[in-house]
Amino acid sequence: MSRFSDFESVAQPGVRALTPYLPGKPLSELEREFGITDAVKLASNENPLGFSPQALAAVERAARDLARYPDGGCFELKAALARRLGVAAEQITLGNGSNDVLELIARAFAGSGDEVIFSEHAFAVYPIAAQAVGATGVSVPAKDWGHDLAAMAAAIGPRTRLIFIANPNNPTGTWLKSDELQAFIEQVPERIPVVVDEAYFEYARYPAMGAADYPDALAWVERYPNLIVTRTFSKAYGLAGLRLGYSVSHRAIAGLLNRVRQPFNVNTLAQVAALAVLEDADYLQRGVQLNAAGMQQLTRGFEALGLPYIPSIGNFVCVEVGRSGVEVYNALLREGVIVRPVANYGMPRHLRVSIGLEPENARFLTALGKVLAAC
Ligand SMILES: *Cc1c(COP(=O)(O)O)cnc(C)c1O
Repeated sequence: MSRFSDFESVAQPGVRALTPYLPGKPLSELEREFGITDAVKLASNENPLGFSPQALAAVERAARDLARYPDGGCFELKAALARRLGVAAEQITLGNGSNDVLELIARAFAGSGDEVIFSEHAFAVYPIAAQAVGATGVSVPAKDWGHDLAAMAAAIGPRTRLIFIANPNNPTGTWLKSDELQAFIEQVPERIPVVVDEAYFEYARYPAMGAADYPDALAWVERYPNLIVTRTFSKAYGLAGLRLGYSVSHRAIAGLLNRVRQPFNVNTLAQVAALAVLEDADYLQRGVQLNAAGMQQLTRGFEALGLPYIPSIGNFVCVEVGRSGVEVYNALLREGVIVRPVANYGMPRHLRVSIGLEPENARFLTALGKVLAAC
């Protein structure tokens, strides 16, 4: 008897049309495939400083109590974040990475027949989150690799239920200035939530990055009840492996997100590590400083190689390699350097490189020079 296996045909149409998110290649995989032991990974915008020692100590202490469920309401962490950010704890929604929060927002506000607006070349999670709930993603053509806010405003229609904006954007590193972003939010109808994704906020705000006009959208949450700001502990705080992110919004929106989240969506170790790293001002400071210096090192290296790049205020930068990015990516793998091809973001001739430690950046630049000279 033949058993039914055509589950494609019975899946939700939105899910059927999805293409899975493509993560950066893990170091262990490269080492398995190529037998390389000293590979360098500059592919997932992780913090090159590694895990904060204070966070590690907190995780080790908490590990003894892992037979218990986490605090589902994240009482202490919410209180600490609320104090730090100058908002009420009731405005904060925590998630298993900010990715989780982005999905909660899509689930709360969009469904079949609805439209979700985002930019071309924007973070790949936005179209996935929209489609997974049956909504239609509306990708608005970019301008100079960044968000074209006038075109995004023009794309708003009666079916629009949600707008995603990444500031700065990943993978392009482009950013919106304070006045232009605020003017955009001002003209969005109040019934449509606008998500401003500030995953790289701490890097972008660092003065040496030179973006004095980069906004802190949190300052606008009181004024615009439909504004949702998301941030993460995965990047500047170095907790990518623990999965923790959050949003700050109007309480009414936080209340809705709280209804659709899993009761224990943030694990115990993430909660204690975040509390510890929030107190580790030195870790954050060293990270953003290192990032600014590494950005200079990489962009000077690109200039020396005669390669155009997209100016970025994140912890990554896109460089145009003048040929197939995937080919250069593969050649770099053989040199033991993992970067990120971005053809799936509509950028077939670019590579995205995360800022690493000084020797890691140097190793990448040497490998890139060698690979480009050979092809
Ligand atoms: C890395 C990133 C995130 C955060 O992901 P987490 O789920 O918090 O690890 C969110 N938005 C953008 C644009 C990112 O690049």
